[in-house]
Amino acid sequence: MARYDAVVIGGGHNGLTAACYLARAGLSVAVLERCDVVGGACVTEELFPGFRLNVASYTIGMLQPEIVRELNLGEAGFASYIRDPQFTGVFPDGQYLVVYPDLERTVADVARLSRHDAEAWPRFEADSARVGGILREYFLRPATIGHGPTLRERSRGGTANGSSPGSSSARRRIWSRHTSSRRP
Ligand SMILES: Cc1cc2nc3c(=O)[nH]c(=O)nc-3n(C[C@H](O)[C@H](O)[C@H](O)COP(=O)(O)OP(=O)(O)OC[C@H]3O[C@@H](n4cnc5c(N)ncnc54)[C@H](O)[C@@H]3O)c2cc1C
Repeated sequence: MARYDAVVIGGGHNGLTAACYLARAGLSVAVLERCDVVGGACVTEELFPGFRLNVASYTIGMLQPEIVRELNLGEAGFASYIRDPQFTGVFPDGQYLVVYPDLERTVADVARLSRHDAEAWPRFEADSARVGGILREYFLRPATIGHGPTLRERSRGGTANGSSPGSSSARRRIWSRHTSSRRP
């Protein structure tokens, strides 16, 4: 029977990332995936003949640039681009809302539906970015549940690397809504 240093159950992107890092560290690794494709919720499949769709996850909101770089994902065909527009919400009465990467264009579209919401939108985006900046601190290090500062404490102070949680670079990193594309 084959023996491995590590066995990863599930070939979603988290399992695959963990397996790659373990293998890079010199361990022999097996990934056990129950489906016939790896990727978990992030796979693209031909759900209808001729149309390939993301079955669930459709934006790269959380994949960290460090991982893309360290695992040479570009060489494996990974590429990303900023979607413009970012998404469209369609309502039952036929109205729709288009959200763009550009704040002013989004506010203009929200204003077609609600002046009140259009005025609030910049604050909503700023608050979202601030929360995103705080959470990003936790992406690339062991969980600190029960140890270290709480999220509330973190939101008041700086971050581990000294940058403000809501700094524009932190915002860009977490909220840049990218979509992956793969080489055919
Ligand atoms: C509808 C939806 C939309 C989403 N949209 C986004 C988005 O736009 N952007 C974003 O960043 N995130 C999005 N997410 C979240 C993102 O999909 C998850 O964070 C991510 O898929 C988690 O990855 P994972 O590897 O931990 O788990 P998963 O992707 O769930 O992968 C788990 C894998 O383990 C396998 N598995 C489970 N049990 C076993 C077993 N016993 N034996 C063998 N294999 C097993 C499964 O088949 C699967 O392949 C979305 C999630 C959903 C559900």
